[in-house]
Amino acid sequence: MITEQARVQLKTAYGVFHLSAFSNDANDPMPHLVISSENYQSLLSPNVRIHSECITGELFKSERCECGQQLDYALDYIAKHGGILIYLRQEGRGIGIINKIKAYVEQDLGYDTAEANKRLGFGYDDRKYDDALTILEHLKVKRLNLLTNNPDKMNAFSKGKITIEKRIPVEIPPNQTNEAYLKTKKDFFGHLLNSI
Ligand SMILES: [Zn+2]
Repeated sequence: MITEQARVQLKTAYGVFHLSAFSNDANDPMPHLVISSENYQSLLSPNVRIHSECITGELFKSERCECGQQLDYALDYIAKHGGILIYLRQEGRGIGIINKIKAYVEQDLGYDTAEANKRLGFGYDDRKYDDALTILEHLKVKRLNLLTNNPDKMNAFSKGKITIEKRIPVEIPPNQTNEAYLKTKKDFFGHLLNSI
């Protein structure tokens, strides 16, 4: 059972948050991380971002995707309006960083982001959101505003007891490198993107 293993106050460039780590095992080196504003419990519908790890986009500011800018937007939004960011350790849409690098090689041969994962023997999108729902239940969230463009994340809530009050778009303008990637996200994965 996933549970909160540790919690601390964290002052950041965005504002003051609490940082906590959730895992099955207290010594798990890659726990899910939760950043929450200090006031989220007083909000009727806290603003929630479920964000899957993307080390290339977030840490190295790769232009192949828009994950780093989405993380930045979500942290800023949550600092200003209150809420929770759940950082799920499912790099590369669930295939891990080694396979993501291999998928980028496939993409450089002309395959799109969905085809590339399939060519490596994976699903188009292997991410799961059950752990995020468990964490939100642990945090006693009953209703929320979800920061997402991804209908799969909204559908993940159809099973549980948590209600989505409204969707808050996290749309980042495309650059020359990621335009085709964003077009696949919209056309193949059905993401709700207006600027593509
Ligand atoms: Zn990314």
